[in-house]
Amino acid sequence: MKIAIVRERVEGENRVAATPETVGKLIALGASVQVEKGAGLGSRILDKDYEAAGAAIAANAAAALKSADVVLTVRRPSAASLAGVSKGALVIGALDPYGNDKDVAALAKAGVTAVSMEFMPRITRAQVMDILSSQANLAGYQGVIEAAAAFDRAFPMMMTAAGTVRPAKAFVMGAGVAGLQAIATAKRLGAVVSATDVRPAAKEQVESLGGKFVAVEDEEFKQAETAGGYAKQMSAEYQAKQADLTAAHIAKQDIVITTALIPGRPAPRLITKAMVESMAPGSVIVDLAAERGGNVELTVPGQVIEHNGVTIIGYTNVQGRIPTTASQLYARNLLAFLTTLIDAKEKKLAINWDDELVKATVLTRDGAVVHPSFSGGDAKPAAPAKADAKPAAAKKPASKAAGAKPATARPAASKSTAAKPAAAKTATAKPPTARKIAAKRKAEALIDAAAAPKPVRARPVRSKAAADADAAAKTAAAKTAAAKKPGAKKPAAKKPAAKSAAAKAPANTPAETKPDTPKGDQ
Ligand code: NAD
Repeated sequence: MKIAIVRERVEGENRVAATPETVGKLIALGASVQVEKGAGLGSRILDKDYEAAGAAIAANAAAALKSADVVLTVRRPSAASLAGVSKGALVIGALDPYGNDKDVAALAKAGVTAVSMEFMPRITRAQVMDILSSQANLAGYQGVIEAAAAFDRAFPMMMTAAGTVRPAKAFVMGAGVAGLQAIATAKRLGAVVSATDVRPAAKEQVESLGGKFVAVEDEEFKQAETAGGYAKQMSAEYQAKQADLTAAHIAKQDIVITTALIPGRPAPRLITKAMVESMAPGSVIVDLAAERGGNVELTVPGQVIEHNGVTIIGYTNVQGRIPTTASQLYARNLLAFLTTLIDAKEKKLAINWDDELVKATVLTRDGAVVHPSFSGGDAKPAAPAKADAKPAAAKKPASKAAGAKPATARPAASKSTAAKPAAAKTATAKPPTARKIAAKRKAEALIDAAAAPKPVRARPVRSKAAADADAAAKTAAAKTAAAKKPGAKKPAAKKPAAKSAAAKAPANTPAETKPDTPKGDQ
């Protein structure tokens, strides 16, 4: 089983798909790893570091790729560049297939099995493989750092002998993974933070991080979240109302970070030229949606421009501007997925083509484009398509807010609220602190989960039968223990363990803090 890692060819891409840490683990799984000379330099990883982890350094890409069974990559490689790989080789990376149908078809024609990590379902099992989260989290952080660097003033309030400096006002548009991290980072720097989103679930998360929530909370807003947790495309009417509300707010801001995205569509346009012109000179906008067309009318993707004294930062690969950390997390995401495709005992690939993770992410196979979003001309994005499997959940009245979402076991807090439907119904009667704590945990878990994927152990995947047997044994043992101790408390397994686990566990093992959840949307 030969795995190849080559230097990224896209201009300005400094990330790399494997680190010495993940190379070592792949070798422990029975792989031989070839790394192209200099592949890690953009992330400050030297060839000798890879060698120390057990990889061989190839003089060029062709030598690294020769007879490779697996190619790990950050960006989509051209079909031509993959000449020499084994027939059917897995090419795993952020392949960005939307709008690139020709390149996807070329990969199919080249005979490789292209795997698009962006389509990884957002279920508990796959959290450690979620490249969108790990990279968006860093983009949210780095976006604020870029804003602070371009801002002529201080972020925090400072009370000095020479007088008081007022804190900067920061507004975050879109409170998903990147937005929540941007809120947390701007707060840490001392800004007064507000945020908006079209999903009701975002409200408590924003508030729990200390941000003020600003949004048009009408009927459409209450229905704006798909069962997969993503935003829906909003109507023109809603967008107009949203623009009216945010226009006045933006005029008073020093920093605006935009992160709004809708899967499979161009980024929604949230800030017009007139809104930019309403801001004071010296203000800074960072458009983290620049790669998908931008949330700001004036954004020039890939560039930093100034309009009427307002700086608009349109970098298209913000996570790539913090490449060492981004590579570290990305490489772990890939390792976690690849581990599920390897039989470590036999030291070879053993792909279960029926596994939901494989089905969701494989774009091409045996010479054909096989992904339903591309092969059949149906342009529905794959990740949210998970929602289709749960129409009932999608139809639930959104007014019950986050706590009422039945299958949303994403972060620990949502699990505990979901487990108490009665409490969710009377959410207003609950003490506000409990809800706030839950929302804070949810927001923090989302950020932490994105930041710190669970380390993957190099061991074969256990069979379902073995897991079932284990579970049965544990239940029996728990029953016996309970029977022996009359009056004893309920077995710990039945507690909403997530609560205590989340509180106790270190931030870098979030996936372990969560109870296993039924397969479904997060
Ligand atoms: P995203 O990158 O698709 O979009 C960013 C944010 O923009 C979202 O919060 C979205 O609601 C918002 N948005 C879209 N249109 C908007 C508009 N017109 N105005 C304002 N905001 C707008 O989102 P994401 O970061 O991928 O997160 C999407 C969902 O997935 C969230 O509910 C998040 O909690 C969830 N999630 C789950 C997991 C997991 O279970 N493993 C991991 C990460 C995120």
